[in-house]
Amino acid sequence: MKTQTLVYGLGESGVAATRALLDIGVTVLAADANDGKDLRDTAAALGAEISLAAGPEVLDGVDRVIVSPGVRPGDPVLRAAEREGVPVISEVALGLELLGDGVRVAAVTGTNGKTTVVDMLGRVLETAGVPHAVAGNSWRALTGCLDEVRAAGLLVLEVSSFHLHYMAEPGFEVAALLNARPDHMDWHASFEEYRRDKLRVFEGQGPEDLALVAADDPVGLDAAPDLSGEVLVVGEGETAVRDGRLYLSGNDLARADELSFGGTHNYSNALFAAAAAERLGVSIPEIRDGLLAYRLKAHRMEVVAEVGGVAYVDDSKATNPAAVAAALGGLDRQVVLILGGSEKHTDFAEILPHLGGCRAVLCQGEAGPRIAGFLEDRGHGDLVERLADLRAAVVRAAHLARPGDAVLLSPGCASFDQFAGYAERGEEFARLVRGLVEERGVVRR
Ligand code: ADP
Repeated sequence: MKTQTLVYGLGESGVAATRALLDIGVTVLAADANDGKDLRDTAAALGAEISLAAGPEVLDGVDRVIVSPGVRPGDPVLRAAEREGVPVISEVALGLELLGDGVRVAAVTGTNGKTTVVDMLGRVLETAGVPHAVAGNSWRALTGCLDEVRAAGLLVLEVSSFHLHYMAEPGFEVAALLNARPDHMDWHASFEEYRRDKLRVFEGQGPEDLALVAADDPVGLDAAPDLSGEVLVVGEGETAVRDGRLYLSGNDLARADELSFGGTHNYSNALFAAAAAERLGVSIPEIRDGLLAYRLKAHRMEVVAEVGGVAYVDDSKATNPAAVAAALGGLDRQVVLILGGSEKHTDFAEILPHLGGCRAVLCQGEAGPRIAGFLEDRGHGDLVERLADLRAAVVRAAHLARPGDAVLLSPGCASFDQFAGYAERGEEFARLVRGLVEERGVVRR
């Protein structure tokens, strides 16, 4: 007889899911395909039955699988679960199930901007004094903060395509799809699958729920007529930026130049957050106050130094070409662009229309040579240089930049070829820039 729940993948969310299930008396087998000291320590602290270096045999006696976002669908355990008809749900789906009804949920997904929109919405709610809890994806694991979410009664949830892949009919009161561009193609079988997973954010909505899509995103826009919630298209009609002002359903929210952040993509993010906040009961003046108080999080178009008239901009969080395109589109200076990092075999065609403002494009890291080759093939050989790593690229960029330029680290790739994560890469960029300043006084040719 099947009696056990398998939690598969023992990162932060797997650990939280295991604890949440143990708390309500569920028998859990906690497993991971890997083995090692850290995992053994983690496992020992859990108090559940554990299987490390696990293969499909862990499914024996298991009635469903809670999967962590890092596990790929092609993983042998997940394939075996599919073959054997064992249901698989994501850790976020489990969290929503454990929360039950009675908690309002605003969910945000998209290739780029999720963290920013969730953060903006959180800030607006906080400014307005509306109790809420933030969780999911780049925040904390949902199953790790269920009591707090219940107490708040309102959850602002960041969901990735990985979570949505293993989630059915979530029925969010507010669901936002910011954009869907090629990314994580090393995880998803195809862009079509990625697109389908992103659109699941709208599944299970009723006519009283709000579905937010973007005017410049073909995926959301094409799906809009068939959505069951009330659709608001951000970026057209009454909810858009017009004459330098942000409008929400015709209400004047703020002048763009009053906000601390720039870039068309961030104004769009602000409108998504504003629309969600309004649906959750926040007044227009409170939304305005929240947006005026908002500061972008680190490593997103963050100016880390201004030296000799050159701005050094850390956009290390740009881990796909769409984010690079947004960064270039938002700068009105000549740019020395630093691209490259770990290889995801992403198509860089999306940045081509934005290279007109580039003085040079420095391609570095594992993916550097492939990106350089691609840009050369597309006729941009005059801009392209190949550099070994981030350090070499920053030194070169400082030589090439002229007063008035920006040196932009917007790599369009993940960071794992040289760093533990995007934050470490951004910090190293800032450190390298500071080092050059100290060495040479002023960084220039
Ligand atoms: P996510 O959580 O989806 O990764 P972030 O808010 O952390 O999104 O931003 C990731 C990167 O994408 C940053 O480089 C940021 O400047 C860029 N970005 C933010 N919002 C958008 C958007 N709406 N469209 C395109 N790029 C964006």
